[in-house]
Amino acid sequence: MINLEQLKSLLAKPRKIVITMHYNPDGDALGSSLALWDFLNNAGHDVRAIAPSDYPNFLRWMPGESEVVHFKKKEKLAMQLVEEAEIIFCLDFNKLSRLNVMQECVDRSTAFFALVDHHIDPDGFADFMLHDAKASSTAELIYQLLVELAGKEVINENIASCLYTGIMTDTGSFRFPSTTPETHLVAAHLIESGANPDTIYNLVNNSFSEFRLRFFGHCLINKMKILPEYKTAYIYVDRKELGQFRIGSGDLEGLVNFPLMMRDIQFAALITDRIENIRLSLRSKGEFDVNLVARQHFNGGGHKNAAGGKTTEKLEQTVERFETMLPNYKSLLNP
Ligand code: 5GP
Ligand code: MN
Repeated sequence: MINLEQLKSLLAKPRKIVITMHYNPDGDALGSSLALWDFLNNAGHDVRAIAPSDYPNFLRWMPGESEVVHFKKKEKLAMQLVEEAEIIFCLDFNKLSRLNVMQECVDRSTAFFALVDHHIDPDGFADFMLHDAKASSTAELIYQLLVELAGKEVINENIASCLYTGIMTDTGSFRFPSTTPETHLVAAHLIESGANPDTIYNLVNNSFSEFRLRFFGHCLINKMKILPEYKTAYIYVDRKELGQFRIGSGDLEGLVNFPLMMRDIQFAALITDRIENIRLSLRSKGEFDVNLVARQHFNGGGHKNAAGGKTTEKLEQTVERFETMLPNYKSLLNP
């Protein structure tokens, strides 16, 4: 394991670098990656960001986004870049399995691995680690890293916009308990450096298609089940509905939070039939730990108030299993 000074020395001459992020990248994964990409690119490195899968349309405006290599569309190029890389940055994930289809080629690499992340219990694959499970977002950690490597002046308008997006999306717009005074101080400097909170908020949150908004309505009226005994509500979505409403990758983002708007609901889930598997998004408010549920029952993980997982069963079986595991948590959900 090397320290920051040693990382600095490593970056003192131009390197071949790959930046990668978790499967189904979110605003934090992509924002952190693009900010680091801009910084390393400006510093003269040969650097590419690779996304293991596509990301939501509401992130497509981000500075540098068009330079991202999409693993599924350009597999050969991506594999060659990974093979030739001297340094691989792993952003916003704690286990190489979170790279999904891209894991195999990264596993083969002999590059130097640098991890920047805020998910608990990272695996020990990295040679440099900037890890803090209490950090609001990976973007906040990337901010720290860039400032420590090159000083505050290095935060240009593009970097500021990318990092602000990462922090804003991972904190639910500065609402989640992970938001600290430090988070706001970082955000303040990002705004001073050119990030525009109003524009970024609208680009990310107020950019629904009509189909997407009507689909949310459909789910809340027809597909949400409430289990008052467990202070739980969940929404389940089959593949046919996704097609009917033209719901693409990323269009489900945010839907899982709606049930938590009800006063007495502590635990919310979204269960979706994806082509590869059944995906679960879990959210809670207060002390209920959904990371535990994801780990114990759904082959996943995450944080206390936001986690995810998957099953290889059918949708109906997954829904049934979700309901039958709830009594195990009754004393925590409804003491
Ligand atoms: P989301 O529900 O938005 O997909 O994910 C919420 C949180 O759970 C994110 O922090 C994400 O990193 C984590 N997460 C989602 N899916 C998985 C998974 O399959 N495995 C693990 N370990 N974490 C996940
Ligand atoms: Mn994150």
